[in-house]
Amino acid sequence: MAKETIGYVKCSECGEPQAAVRMSSRSFAYSVCPNCGKQGFCRSKMCSDSLLNRMQPIEQAAPRNDKPEEVKDHGGFFE
Ligand SMILES: [Zn+2]
Repeated sequence: MAKETIGYVKCSECGEPQAAVRMSSRSFAYSVCPNCGKQGFCRSKMCSDSLLNRMQPIEQAAPRNDKPEEVKDHGGFFE
């Protein structure tokens, strides 16, 4: 069963910016680099929390720009 990727972190070995962060069966985060194959497993909650804090959540890594930002009325500031 494939584990779900929850975010991305920079690979500490090759610098690949999108090493996948996943949760292990023991509920610790770990990273897998698709470029060099490095796997970084956490064996403590402290390590896991640190990795989760550093990672870019997958929602932010692939932003959806289907809604254009509203142009705000500047109230004549640029007159
Ligand atoms: Zn790597």
